[in-house]
Amino acid sequence: MNSSTVRHRPHRIGFVSLGCPKATVDSEHILTQLRAEGYEISPSYDGADLVVVNTCGFIDAAVEESLDAIGEALDENGKVIVTGCLGAKGDIVRQTHPNVLAVTGPHATAEVMNAIHEHLPAEHDPFLDLVPPQGIRLTPRHYAYLKISEGCNHHCTFCIIPDLRGPLVSRPVNDVLLEAERLAASGVKELLVVSQDTSAYGVDVKYKTEFYNGMPVKTRMKELCEALSQFGIWVRLHYVYPYPHVNDIIPLMAKGKILPYLDIPFQHASPKVLKAMKRPASTENTMQRINQWREICPDITIRSTFIAGFPGETEEDFQLLLDFLDEAQLDRVGCFAYSDVDGAKANELDGAVPEEIKQERVKRFMEKQAGISAQKLKQNIGKTRDVIIDAIDTAENLIIARTSSDAPDIDGLVYIDIPDSHNCQVGDITQVTITATDEYDMWGALRAPMNN
Ligand code: SF4
Repeated sequence: MNSSTVRHRPHRIGFVSLGCPKATVDSEHILTQLRAEGYEISPSYDGADLVVVNTCGFIDAAVEESLDAIGEALDENGKVIVTGCLGAKGDIVRQTHPNVLAVTGPHATAEVMNAIHEHLPAEHDPFLDLVPPQGIRLTPRHYAYLKISEGCNHHCTFCIIPDLRGPLVSRPVNDVLLEAERLAASGVKELLVVSQDTSAYGVDVKYKTEFYNGMPVKTRMKELCEALSQFGIWVRLHYVYPYPHVNDIIPLMAKGKILPYLDIPFQHASPKVLKAMKRPASTENTMQRINQWREICPDITIRSTFIAGFPGETEEDFQLLLDFLDEAQLDRVGCFAYSDVDGAKANELDGAVPEEIKQERVKRFMEKQAGISAQKLKQNIGKTRDVIIDAIDTAENLIIARTSSDAPDIDGLVYIDIPDSHNCQVGDITQVTITATDEYDMWGALRAPMNN
């Protein structure tokens, strides 16, 4: 080799990814672009030529964690580019860490790449430029987040996401379907559809018709779900609001086209609190909707999250929430104590609830839901459920899996003793007979693997 053909080591980028699944998808897009351009990803600070920190700015604890992560990257490496929700929050990053090389907001792959090009220009190398067609993902090989839109048109008073990420911008449906096709072809068995408001998909483009494989498809939730079902893998919907048109997708669940699972963040049940929160669909009769959905699809799993201690929430409001839990018998539920978010309108509302009352309400809420959840899970005993295998722990002799009622990271698990002979792999969808349950998890025995 003469000096003109000597290949230098490619530039290496360290990457720290914080925040929610939407931020994870942003990280995946940046990582994909980095690999596509021939950069290597460094697993350590000292092996990196530069570090990108994708931050979260949702609540104070997340801001602190993000600022700490930036500080650590600066201490350990020195060359740091900041992206993500915290980057959109004015000067907070530069005030705390004036030495960062660049700061961008969320969903900003092009800006991040521009900053990297400026500080670390890529050398073209056709061998290193190759990336798998599905891109780089941070999730395990068998499931993937599929982000269908960015931003949000609502103005919930406790949330600053519309300020950080802007109004709703739906991805063209053909683009989304092409990505889903590539993911399915790469071995993904479960797609987790995410956005800020999945039920609003396509509103901004007036449900425009696009073409996928020569077939017209509308940029709308129902048509998207129908089209996704053709890949023959699990499709799970997150962040849906109880609008009337959500009724249209329940028959697809009943027919097994997409998973009978709805993640709907109700946040509260008191009309007064929902109004103060300015929640989308807050005037809908939620109980009536839930009953309709269950009539159409009796196996539907409904997951939700709630906030206790929102400003102005009285004991009576909170009791309405507990009564709603009793009536709605939701399957999977989370509850958070309200906390001020820098820049959110709710901070200005009267009637702040003292911290100890917030915590006490969260505890009462979770105790009630634990009883409901335990009862509901118990109904699975003796039944055979389809599960997807997340991990095989030979040291503990356990297969760790999830039913179609359980999303990764947020819902429960099924623990299965590894039988003497089996050919299970992570990502297999197989059948399990449930033998025991508690408030959140289940235990079961493996039946014959049904789908590799
Ligand atoms: S729907 Fe409300 S909580 Fe969700 S992103 Fe939009 S403004 Fe925030």
